[in-house]
Amino acid sequence: MKIEAAVFREIHKPLTIETVDIDAPAGREVLVRTVATGVCHSDLHVVDGLSRYSLDTPFVLGHEGAGIVEAVGGDVTAVRKGDHVVACLSGFCGTCPQCLSGHPNVCSGGIVGRGDRLSQDGAPFQQFANIASYASHMLLHENSLVRIDPDLPLDRAALVGCGVLTGVGAALRTSGLQAGQTVAVFGCGGVGLSIVQGARIGGARQIIAVDQFDSKLEMAKAVGATHTVNATRDDAVKAVRALTKGLGVDHAFEAVGLSVLCRQAIESLAIRGTATIVGVLPPDAKIEFPWLAIRPECKVQTSRMGSNQFRTDIPNYLEFFRQGRLDLDSMISRRGRLGDINEAFRAMKAGEVARTVLMFD
Ligand SMILES: [Zn+2]
Ligand SMILES: [Zn+2]
Repeated sequence: MKIEAAVFREIHKPLTIETVDIDAPAGREVLVRTVATGVCHSDLHVVDGLSRYSLDTPFVLGHEGAGIVEAVGGDVTAVRKGDHVVACLSGFCGTCPQCLSGHPNVCSGGIVGRGDRLSQDGAPFQQFANIASYASHMLLHENSLVRIDPDLPLDRAALVGCGVLTGVGAALRTSGLQAGQTVAVFGCGGVGLSIVQGARIGGARQIIAVDQFDSKLEMAKAVGATHTVNATRDDAVKAVRALTKGLGVDHAFEAVGLSVLCRQAIESLAIRGTATIVGVLPPDAKIEFPWLAIRPECKVQTSRMGSNQFRTDIPNYLEFFRQGRLDLDSMISRRGRLGDINEAFRAMKAGEVARTVLMFD
């Protein structure tokens, strides 16, 4: 079958909209008609040459997709034709030690993919995260999908497949946040805003949002930040300490993937505080801080995709949305079409948007 897809061919070059062949679903594969896909930083990292996938061209990017099942392979049991589904890059094998101990987000088995799901004139195309959502259809393993209630809006549901799952999960699952504690979030893009929301849902009494754009700090306030710090005007660590009567915060989150923000998160901690690094740093990045800057018995940990068990977490977080406790409406700054992908990347780099969502017919 022919589909329309945004193809990545070269680092720093715009994606091109091309006609691509997609195979029929076999075995445990599911063919999904894409309805909406979020535009996430991880895709931009590939285009900017910062990912290990950057040289694996040609490539169809995109991994924050939601849509409707059109056909399933003979061995699929999780979904059927007509189901509304959200894709997640935490595809899991279900049989490795991590999966069996309740940590499928760090599955060591991986899902079984194949290299020829997408092609053009017989030449295979790579699929980002085994998903490739910048396309009118996605062909993926059933363990990369979760079924959701059909009354939920698919544009907002798509965001829960990556950015929201990562941020809300970092606060509610990874961090160990307890109601009444204090929080600082460094970086208020889609993931940072989701951490703010997770902290609010988890009962944090103070949520300090730190960013260099006032527009993002406004968004953070709208979704639950109690205080904001513009890091271009104030020393972020001093400001966080001033706002916490000199104590520092119980939980600091890094949501961008920059060593300088990791250092600031660590230096902002209270005694026995925890820094949770959610952003993905370049492979050779180093985090340095003076020994004196870290309070006694602090912890530093990473969070991988919000420590998710996405088959249950995505429906649960969507239930928060339905109840009005998780604000997904304000997470979408813009909507566009597949052809707007390069503009969406530009806007994300410029800090103009929390998320752009691309819509399909
Ligand atoms: Zn993502
Ligand atoms: Zn596994």
